[in-house]
Amino acid sequence: MKKIIISNFKMNTTPSEMKNYAMTLATKTKGSKNKIIICPPFTHFAVANQFFEGSKISLGAQNVSDAESGTYTGEISASMLKDSKVEYVIVGHSERRSRFKETDKLINKKIKTALANGLKVILCIGENLATREAKEAGNFVKKQLDDALKGIYENELESLIIAYEPIWAIGTGKTATIKDIQKMVELLRKEISYLYTDKAGEKINIVYGGSIDINNYKKIISLPCLNGALIGGASLNVDNFTVISKENY
Ligand code: PEP
Repeated sequence: MKKIIISNFKMNTTPSEMKNYAMTLATKTKGSKNKIIICPPFTHFAVANQFFEGSKISLGAQNVSDAESGTYTGEISASMLKDSKVEYVIVGHSERRSRFKETDKLINKKIKTALANGLKVILCIGENLATREAKEAGNFVKKQLDDALKGIYENELESLIIAYEPIWAIGTGKTATIKDIQKMVELLRKEISYLYTDKAGEKINIVYGGSIDINNYKKIISLPCLNGALIGGASLNVDNFTVISKENY
């Protein structure tokens, strides 16, 4: 089964290091059936494009401004990403929600700006440990989804991937259990069916992220209810990420 394998470099590696990474990945994943999306820092796009153009690997960004242009020092606009041959952008990552105080309202605006400029969106949602322990994870994630998708039309869902990333599983070495993932994915599909149509709930792409590595990836990504994975730390090792990207799921 074809899966979507997404990397998130976060603020790691230099553009010089990207060269070897991109060259290795592009060469070694040539026959892969999976959709591979690499989200390095902005500074890496030019070098990544040298190797990804003509390959099946897509380039993604880790952030985008909700504004189109103007007096926003340090920000990157959707049209800048598009012009840099970026196809995807991660929106709503928990690190941006917590460290940069991004709200559901801002995330909704970012999604609209990204889609309006022809970018595809990887929308991250997920609960923290306290919310899970209070047995509120389902309601919390549903609300994040509802708020993020306000004003988004059903035909735009084709350009959206939902990444379920429980915060307590990100970079901790603790993944959610298979049962937890299945339950949450089912809930998310149901919510999309409720917000749109049953067809939309079936078709929406949902990936899981949180401490996936070379030892546990197969069991998680093979789940029939999942369309793929978002991988942080383990994606920095090009040999391991190549194995995960080439796998026949
Ligand atoms: C992430 O950053 O979205 C992520 C899933 O990280 P990690 O794989 O390191 O847990």
